[in-house]
This record gives sequence, C-alpha cells and structure tokens, in this order.
Amino acid sequence: MKKNDHIQLKITDIGVHGEGIGKADGFPFFVKNALPGDEVEAVITKIKSSYGYAKTLRILKPSSDRVEPSCPHAEACGGCQLQALSYGKQLAFKQDLVRERMTRIGGFDEAVVDSVLEPIRGMTDPWRYRNKAQYPVAEKDGKVAAGFYAGRTHHLIEVEDCLLEPAVNAQIVKAVLAFVNKHGVPAYNEESGTGILRHIMIRHGVNTNKTLLCLIVRKYREQDWQGLAEALEDADLSITSVGVSVQPKKNNVIMGNGYITLRGEPFITDKVGDVSFRISPQSFYQVNPAQMKVLYDLAGEYAGLTGRETVWDLYCGIGTIGLYLAGKAGHVIGVETVPEAIGNAKENAEINDIQNAEYHGGKAEAVFSKLAAGKDGADQVVIVDPPRKGCDEKLLQAITEFAPGRIVYVSCDPATLARDLKMLCENGYQLKRVIPVDQFCHSVHVECVVLMSKAST
Ligand code: SAH
Repeated sequence: MKKNDHIQLKITDIGVHGEGIGKADGFPFFVKNALPGDEVEAVITKIKSSYGYAKTLRILKPSSDRVEPSCPHAEACGGCQLQALSYGKQLAFKQDLVRERMTRIGGFDEAVVDSVLEPIRGMTDPWRYRNKAQYPVAEKDGKVAAGFYAGRTHHLIEVEDCLLEPAVNAQIVKAVLAFVNKHGVPAYNEESGTGILRHIMIRHGVNTNKTLLCLIVRKYREQDWQGLAEALEDADLSITSVGVSVQPKKNNVIMGNGYITLRGEPFITDKVGDVSFRISPQSFYQVNPAQMKVLYDLAGEYAGLTGRETVWDLYCGIGTIGLYLAGKAGHVIGVETVPEAIGNAKENAEINDIQNAEYHGGKAEAVFSKLAAGKDGADQVVIVDPPRKGCDEKLLQAITEFAPGRIVYVSCDPATLARDLKMLCENGYQLKRVIPVDQFCHSVHVECVVLMSKAST
C-alpha cells in the first residue's frame, strides 16, 4: 500500500483527535471524517512503518451512531471533531478515553479505575454553551473576513454562525467586519507579518449580561478605531466593553499584551453562584459557564471542607475555585502566573468582601514550595487546575512532601492527568474518585475532577 491508493475499511475505534481508526489488510489507519461503525472508501494520505493516515472519500455504510451535523461547517472546521457522532456516543467516547488513559498511562488496574470512575456529566442542551470566542481574521477575495481555521491548518473557513456560541456573536463579527472593510483597516497576513487585525475576541458574562469585544491587532493605530464604539452602539448589540490588545509577534499566540479601552470597563464581570468575578481579557475563565458550576461544585464536594482547612488553589486564574469555596474554608491561598489574572483574583476577593483569601503571583512549582515549607499539610486541601501540560514535576514533589490530607485535581487533559496521578500514587496517595465533565461538547476534549487522599487516612 502506498500514498494515494484507495482502500476500503471498517472503522472500529476513534482516535484522540476524533479521527476514525480501522484496518485495511491488517494494517491500521487513522481516517479523517470517519466514525466507529462506518464502512468507508478512503485515500491514503501518508504511510508510516506501523500505521498510516487516510481521508474518507465515500461512506459506503454509515455507522448507526452517525447524526446529521447541525452546522454546515462541522466537517471542515477544526472546532467540532465529534459533531457527526450522536451526543450520547460522544459522552461514551470521553468516558472510555479517561478509562484508557488511567490504565495505559496511569498504570492503574482496570478494577481500580472501574471502582473510582463515575459516569461523565454531560449537558442536556449541548449547544451555544460557550462564553468566549476567538475568530481568526484574514483577507479573502480582497476583503477582511473572519471565521475559524480548518482542522490542523491555518486555512480560514468563514463561519457565519457558530452553534457553540451565542447567536449575537454572528452579528457582532458582521458589524466589526463591516466597520474595518469600510474604514480600510487591513487583515493581518501571517506569512508576511503585515496588516493589522489578527483576531476578534468576544466574551460574555452570561450571568450578568455583559459582553466584551477585544480586537487583537499587530499594531495600534488610533485612527483605525475612531467611530467603532459608536458604530457598535448604533447596531444595538449590547456590547458593554470594547478595546484593543496589541500582539506584534510573528507567532501563534492569540492574545496580546495590555488592553486599550475604547469603551466601558477593561474587564467583564460574571457570577458563579453568588460570587462575582472580574475577568480581564488576558485572564483565563472557563468557557462553559453551566458546566463550570458543575465542575466547581464537584471540586467543593471532593474537597470535603469543614470550615477549618486551608485550601490551596494552585493555577487559580482569577481566583474562581478558591473564592467559590472560601465560605466553607478556613483560609484560601491562590497561586497563578499571569499577572492580570492574579490582579483579578485579589480584586475578586475584595469585591466579594472575602477576607480569608490571599493571592501570590508566580509559578505554582516555585511559589508553593516556598509557602508550604515547614507547614503541616494534614488538615489542608490542595487543589490543582493546571493547563493541558499538567503539573510540573517539582510541584508534585513539593505537594507529596507537604502531605495534604486531600488533593483535588481538576484537569483538561486526561493523558497528563493520568501521568500525574501515577506519580502521586507512587508517593503516598490513593485514588478515591474520578469524574469526567463534558465542558467541550462536540470536541474531543474532556475535563475531569479527581479526589486523592493520603494512603494512610
Ligand atoms: N482554576 C482556574 C484557572 C485554570 S486554567 C479556573 O478554573 O478558572 C490554568 C491556569 O494556570 C491559567 O490561569 C494559567 O495562566 C495558569 N498557569 C499556567 N502555568 C502555571 C504555573 N506554572 N503556575 C501557576 N499558574 C500557571
């Protein structure tokens, strides 16, 4: 078999990027746009020594789990890798993925995993759930256009209405594009590093009805944006804040440094339960507000607070988890690297009149070891919520030396989660509860909350 050959195969599994997996003459292929249960004709796009890649040409017999995607761009767009799979099967896929990572990467016995792994928490209505959107901008047919990138490329697909986002976003993007096209503000060109507008970012505070629009530009030129705030006001799109962030570097980083306010406040406010949060454009904030509450409630339940404990909120962002739980904790200590986020966390403690929380800027692996040194962790809870790459090994070491009674691990990548849990279990901890939460419906991503406790307790 070689590149460009046509093959027929039955798809039996699904890969981490949402691609189908099946064998042709006993040789495994990762097949684009194919689902488990499909029989497809595909063209080979690449052959390696023990596996290959192929792209579906024709579905000969569709899987019974296939559904008609609601979005016309579902196949091409990189955002929704699983939209053609029924939502029930998406959830089953994510549950299995977590189980597989725990056994293969974490090295846990299947029986152990089955005894701690709880059923995934899905959404009843898995559409228009996102509170944040970042649309890449590019020139198309002589005009500035916006949309999303096709899967694993930087090829722009113009998406008028993304079904994961509030419907008003389509109108906001349309209004921004009309403005820049009228005023001759050029799109950024990734290859040459010229042009101005790189991304359009929209964030909603769904519980406060606030909307922030941030234009990410290569270079700030005041004249480009004169009249924008007024034009948007006339369009009556209920945007409460408008601003510009400058990202001059020729790389894939979306957000720029700083924020120039054109209208309103340089942040938006949202609420989780009764706690208000100020979120600056640079700060991380969970993208699925309904499931965020599920996640934080589970983190609280797993933390098992009695009112005495010190809660370490490591990788705290704007302080959400710790401040949400502060009422049930003795004390909260948050650590976060992004300066804007730690600034928000301090402000958020203040605006909610929460007196028992303190915040430290810096890397968790450096700051935690210093702050925890010489303290007894027995009556304390460490919560970690790292980015996809998981916890730094130095941090895990410092945590096991500190020996807190409970560790709650909130993770957005089951592979690094399993790796880190393995290390913790080899150093005195026991896996108690694991629950996947579907924060990213229709994508392959899955969030988990895990409880570990000291093996002797
Ligand atoms: N717990 C928060 C944020 C989770 S996202 C929430 O639920 O909203 C992960 C956060 O970790 C981000 O805010 C990121 O800026 C921060 N971060 C990344 N690397 C870090 C490190 N080494 N030390 C501390 N914080 C880090």
